[in-house]
Formats: sequence, structure tokens, C-alpha cells
Amino acid sequence: MDVDISKLSAGGVVTVDLGALVDNYRSVGRLAAGSRCAAVVKADAYGLGMRPVSRALFDAGCDAFFVATVAEGRELRDELSQAAIYVLEGPGGFDAVAALRAANLVPVLNSIEQVRIWSNPVRPAACVLHLDTGMSRLGLAPEEVGQLTASDSLLRGLQIEYVMTHLACADEPDNPANDEQLRLFDSLRSALPAAATSIGNSAGIQLGSRFCGDLVRPGIALYGGSPVRGSTSPFREVVGLYGRVLQLRTISRSTPVGYGAAHTAHPPARLATLGLGYADGYPRSLGGRGFAVVAGTRVPVVGAVSMDSVVIDVTAVAPDAIRVDDAVQLLGGGIGLAEVAGLAGTIDYEILTGLSRRLSRRYHGMQSETGPVVGVTGFEPATSTSRR
Ligand SMILES: *Cc1c(COP(=O)(O)O)cnc(C)c1O
Repeated sequence: MDVDISKLSAGGVVTVDLGALVDNYRSVGRLAAGSRCAAVVKADAYGLGMRPVSRALFDAGCDAFFVATVAEGRELRDELSQAAIYVLEGPGGFDAVAALRAANLVPVLNSIEQVRIWSNPVRPAACVLHLDTGMSRLGLAPEEVGQLTASDSLLRGLQIEYVMTHLACADEPDNPANDEQLRLFDSLRSALPAAATSIGNSAGIQLGSRFCGDLVRPGIALYGGSPVRGSTSPFREVVGLYGRVLQLRTISRSTPVGYGAAHTAHPPARLATLGLGYADGYPRSLGGRGFAVVAGTRVPVVGAVSMDSVVIDVTAVAPDAIRVDDAVQLLGGGIGLAEVAGLAGTIDYEILTGLSRRLSRRYHGMQSETGPVVGVTGFEPATSTSRR
């Protein structure tokens, strides 16, 4: 690794390998050959930092980004003046139309109501028309598509860049719902003016070119997560999570560990307390279930995960192999995201987006003209973001 995380001054740190991120973008692009490949960077790029992640992808040739909210879109416009930015929530909130137009953001229109809000026959502006084909979440219902096709004036006020839909079960390749959604999508859009299409998220792209469309919208695959539920990711690992050793103790008589005395340590156990907990997004459900890696050895999390700390049993590690202030890895480096998510009873997405702002983010893995590493060096507060 081209960033030193052997010693920490913060309680915990998230490392983001921008080189692996870019590699994953290229891998997804190859899978979706023939489609334009956007990047979904909503929710602060799944917790990894929207600005540095988007900048690295833009520099690697990605020119289209999806965010969830107008606020996210405005922040990204501040970072990337040239990229196409699509806003999944569409023109919903107060003053959204003005905000979208001012920042040159392209809304995804999710209902006939949003179509009415955006449609402007005097100054038609670009939009993505989202058709609901089986999620019942966002997107025009089939009846609403009928209302739209019946209204020349509404249609005249739209510049439809893409017609899109979103698959509900793409992470289950054999689920017949995928084909059914595609059939409904094709029949709905046949009534609309011809437009390019956008279908696949990370999982959809794996289903083959029929499920890609002209523009693909991968998110989790870029960040090293697994698009197919319960399986290990075929993409490069991007994220590492490290906790700082706050204390080390050797147990001289049987003693309870942590809240609720859920674990009892017996001599000659050695315990290490790490400075991150469930407030940092290390799930409380990993108490007694999670793992850490110390000097190449996998060791267990013992007792309950606290708000700001977690205890690991390092008896199996040579005494001089772990010291106060050492960085101990809790995610990555042999502890896969899919494994952690599985042990915690959740999905990769929730683990990544749950990583708190209190953890500093360190970016590595990118060469630049000016220095070896692009991004953050040293420990900056979690709220600061790298900018060039
Ligand atoms: C979040 C989202 C994506 C990205 O999904 P991944 O599973 O992370 O690839 C794509 N499209 C829409 C509409 C989304 O909401």
C-alpha cells in the first residue's frame, strides 16, 4: 500500500484505494461494452467521499454521474464543472427547478407530477424519464406513461435524454422478474418518442447487454462491493477500515469484557481495545462475531461493540506484534466486505454508507504529475475533503 497506516492518531481511519476504484470502473466498462458508463456517487459516494471519488473517475474518463439529491448535485457541480450530473430524486423540493437549472443538473423525472414541473415548451431542458416497471418506488407508473403520451404539450416541453428503469431483483440472475421488467419497459417506451435507454445498475450489468441499455449506472461494483447477494465481489478491494489500539491488557484472572459481560476472558488472554465503535459505523451486531487482522493473524472481536470502542482478543499474536497506537484492520486485507456484511446481517451498501464522518478518509493508489499520491495526506478532520 502506498499510504502508511501502521500508526494512527485518530480513533479510526477509512482508506480508499482510488487506483482500485478506477480499475473497477474500467472492468465495469468492459462488461457493459457498447454502453456509456456513468458512476453512481450518491450518499457521498457510498460513504467514501463524493469529491475525491468523482474527481478520480472523471480524470479516468467518466463523464456522467448520478447523485440522489439536488444538494448532492450542487456539491458535485462545484467539483466537476464539465461532467453530466443526473439527480435521481428529480425536481421535487421547493425551488428545485431553479436550483437544477442554475447548476446545469439533469433531473430524473419520477412521476407525472415531476414531468409537469419540469416540462417547459419555451425552454425545454434535458431530463431522464424514469419508468416504474416493478419496484413501486420511483418512476412513472404505466397509467402515468399513458397520460404523458396523450399530451403533446407536456412532451414538447421535455428534452428526454434517456428513458430509464431500475431492476428490483437484478442480484438474483435467475429471477424471472428481470425479464418481465424488461418486457414492460420495452412496451412502455414504445409509446414514447424514441430515446436512448438506461437500465443496469451493478447487478443488472452482470445480467448481460440486454440489461445495460445505452447508459449503465453502476455504484457498488466501483467500490469493490458484490452486486450479487451473498457472493464474493469479483472487483478489486477499494476500502479499508482501521482502528487505533487505545489499550492493551493481559488478563490474570477470568474477567468479563464489555457491556452486559457478554464475553468472559480467561488467562492468559491478551486484549486490545480499538478506538472505533458503532457510532463510527462498525456494526453493533458484530459483537462476538467480527474479526480483525493483526500482523497477518485473524483475531476475534470479543464482547459487545461499544459506541466508541471495540475489544479484540490478541492472545494468538506475538506480544511485540501489537502496540498502543498501532492501526488494526477490521475491513479489507483478508476481511472481505461481503463477509463483514454477512456477519452483521446486512449488505455491503449499508456497511459502506454507515462509515461515520468521524473516521478520517485517506486516499491512495493514484499517481499524479506532482507527487506520488493524489488526495489526503496525514490526518485531516473527516469533514475536510481533498480538492485540486
Ligand atoms: C443506487 C442506484 C444505482 C446504483 O446501484 P448499485 O447496485 O450500487 O450499482 C443505480 N440506479 C439507481 C436508480 C439507483 O438508485
